[in-house]
Amino acid sequence: VKWIYDFNEGRSKDKALLGGKGANLAEMTHLGLPVPSGFTLTTESCMRYLKNVAFFDQQLITEIQTAIERLEVKTNKSFTNDDELLLVSVRSGAVFSMPGMMDTILNLGLNDSRVHALAEQTSLAFAYDCYRRLLQMFGDVVYGIPKEKFNLLLTKAEKENNKTVNVFNEQQQLALIKNYKELFIKHNKVFPQHPMDQLKEAIQAVFHSWNNPRANVYRELHGISHHLGTAVNVQEMVFGNSGNESGTGVVFTRNPATGDNQLFGEFLLDAQGEDVVAGIRTPQPIQELSERLPNVYQDFLHYAQMLELHYKDMQDIEFTVEQGKLFILQTRNGKRTAKAALKIATDLVNENVLSKEEALMRVEAEMIDQLIHPIFKPEALEQATPFAQGLPASPRAATGEIVFTAEKAKERYEQGNKVILVRHETSPEDIEGMIVSEAIVTSRGGMTSHAAVVARGMGTCCVTGTETLTIDEEAKTVTTNDIRLKEGDILSVNGNTGEIYLGELPTVIAENNQDLTLFLSWADELADLEVRANAETLTDLTTALDFGATGIGLARTEHMFFGEDRILEMRRLILAEDHREMETALTKLLAFQENDFYQMFQTIRDKPMVIRLLDPPMHEFLPHEAPDIANLADKLNRSVNELTAKIEYLKETNPMLGHRGCRLGITTPEIYQMQVKAIIQSAIRLVQEGIPVVPEIMIPLIAEKEELMHLKVLLIETIEATFNAQNIVPFSYEIGTMIELPRACLIADQLAEQADFFSFGTNDLTQMTYGFSRDDIGKFINRYQEKAIMTHDPFQHLDQQGVGQLIKLAVSNARRTKPTMTIGICGEVGGDPQSIPFFQAIGIDYVSCSPYRIPAARLAVAQAAI
Ligand code: ADP
Ligand code: MG
Ligand code: MG
Repeated sequence: VKWIYDFNEGRSKDKALLGGKGANLAEMTHLGLPVPSGFTLTTESCMRYLKNVAFFDQQLITEIQTAIERLEVKTNKSFTNDDELLLVSVRSGAVFSMPGMMDTILNLGLNDSRVHALAEQTSLAFAYDCYRRLLQMFGDVVYGIPKEKFNLLLTKAEKENNKTVNVFNEQQQLALIKNYKELFIKHNKVFPQHPMDQLKEAIQAVFHSWNNPRANVYRELHGISHHLGTAVNVQEMVFGNSGNESGTGVVFTRNPATGDNQLFGEFLLDAQGEDVVAGIRTPQPIQELSERLPNVYQDFLHYAQMLELHYKDMQDIEFTVEQGKLFILQTRNGKRTAKAALKIATDLVNENVLSKEEALMRVEAEMIDQLIHPIFKPEALEQATPFAQGLPASPRAATGEIVFTAEKAKERYEQGNKVILVRHETSPEDIEGMIVSEAIVTSRGGMTSHAAVVARGMGTCCVTGTETLTIDEEAKTVTTNDIRLKEGDILSVNGNTGEIYLGELPTVIAENNQDLTLFLSWADELADLEVRANAETLTDLTTALDFGATGIGLARTEHMFFGEDRILEMRRLILAEDHREMETALTKLLAFQENDFYQMFQTIRDKPMVIRLLDPPMHEFLPHEAPDIANLADKLNRSVNELTAKIEYLKETNPMLGHRGCRLGITTPEIYQMQVKAIIQSAIRLVQEGIPVVPEIMIPLIAEKEELMHLKVLLIETIEATFNAQNIVPFSYEIGTMIELPRACLIADQLAEQADFFSFGTNDLTQMTYGFSRDDIGKFINRYQEKAIMTHDPFQHLDQQGVGQLIKLAVSNARRTKPTMTIGICGEVGGDPQSIPFFQAIGIDYVSCSPYRIPAARLAVAQAAI
């Protein structure tokens, strides 16, 4: 096995082996970009080492030694001698980029004697700057000595000598180095002087960092396997900290927040490594590089364009300039907001870089949700005055209470509160607190700071560099001018503008943007599955159509019985003593329903709409508290005792498994008769108005073929009577069934003989298949997930191995009976991008989901078809 690849040996396709960073360094080397030479230890060598540490000394070390020798030849420098110093960086790089998760060490190879030599060849300040950085990063990454302790020593020395470190004399530099080394001793460590020892320990530390808790949390969050390992890149150093013709920067080839086609990033002159993102000095916008170092800027532009075209995607590029010469140190597909993702994808199609199919695959369906989520109400914003302004690092509107630590964020979140994490800056240790926060606000750091990058990746609102905020993390206060806020105070944060407000501002859904409309129209062209909506209120129906629903997959009639005037009639019906009373209730309900359906059909017009007949258990409509019962008794003119007894009688132990769905239709046929009569009468009105509706009537909770046959006869009789009564030539309608019981799946071939269409109710089907009540699963699913018994909630993502198999079986059996039958999915997982490929694969015709999930589902169905 080959454990090490030189940069000129790999390509970008080798990501699994070389990690993202290594593979792209190799690719850029291949393309002829100015990349300092180096080599990559493979992810396999990491996993091998983590399994058996002896592997390092037995095998890997000799490969490392020869790789260093090759690098020495290539660079014409030496890793051990004091002249022509070869210094290297040791950079971790996993397969998936994990911002800030793993660690990097720069200037490795310096020691007491070589720093002296370097100082003679360059300058005292530069050489010792490098050495101090090495000691600090090495101490931190390899031995866990907190970075801040080194900073304290530096500040102390500057104070004692009464000058800044860059003008220290040699004695003073040496004294400071001595203090740094003593800090190692205090931690029972010694800084290794030999470059090879440094390299060895550094590589091992990076390998180990794969298992550090932060990395684990990040992988959990993003569903990345723990078994991939990280590669390690060893690369010749170039020095951005060697004067004012030098510097370092981070640039996106397009704006990662808006997608605008314009370089976006920052640089710092005379700086090294992470100085730009660390928020120590405030960096300058990349455009200013064209004034400071015009040639370098031109070169950079050239390479940036080249990389974007080569990868056909927006790049996130790290570069360093050493005395007027540009080096590219990293490139990757940049993280971006949903808005930017969409704009970049559509722009790249317009620029003829991507095909529509490629573009559609570039945007994660889940991301679409962020585009239709709340912004602050424009009118409310107009009247509100922000009390602070930072950088709009990640869009969305968010409101919550102030917390100052990640721990507090978690604690308050777990108690059910919305929190805004307010900090000087965030670091990888804060990741768990960041995940649960509605927004992240920092007083320092730029658009590419840790907080900004992580928040954009998660779609969390973020405002950085809010410099007017004075945050006292100890006292738990944040002050600006005359305002002082404390933990628990409510803030509203506008990630689109960077403005922060006191108190809670109302939100609205953002305007549907044009990129989204265009993009989703491409999706529709390529999709096989249709996307319908679960909706019954006129508002929801309209929203669904606006979001591009091709019809209604599930209109739940029970939702129409809860209005104040209706619930009384429903109760009268359920509790009726005699036929006459029942008739009174039915007549009123018929009028309500006919009107409802008429309006619904009018909204939907000739698009399909599946109307489900009454489903829930009766008790859901009845009052249970004594005062409510008394009130009802009064209205129905009955005695309280009698009513209480009747309600008691109707109580069920397991209502979800009880007297509901078609079972009600069978025991109280009048309800379903009334409902179909209302449906048909309203349809007649529409047809007479010239709108050709085809009512689709759906019977819930069928388990037996006979149930379906029995109800069909009943419904057809009623429908025919309705046509006859009005002297209407019958038009077509359909009667189908919901498949939501395991038994129904098993006998789907028989049911298909009787049904015009099927729709899978995945919520009930999941509940009945697992025997998990969907109302109670919350009490134990977390434990299941913690103990890795289940990786996800089956009500959120389809359980493909169990529930999915039932659906698959039912579909294939039904199709054997009736090849062209329309089969849909209604229920939560119908709108879940992760479940949609499965539905595509088993031949479903449409998915149906709540209106706000439609845009994401439209993209997901296209992706499943591509
Ligand atoms: P991360 O994965 O955290 O971004 P990197 O390995 O990219 O870590 O290193 C961080 C920064 O260190 C780089 O952006 C670059 O500025 C600097 N760096 C890394 N290797 C070198 C090198 N060989 N020469 C100069 N600077 C380097
Ligand atoms: Mg880093
Ligand atoms: Mg980097």
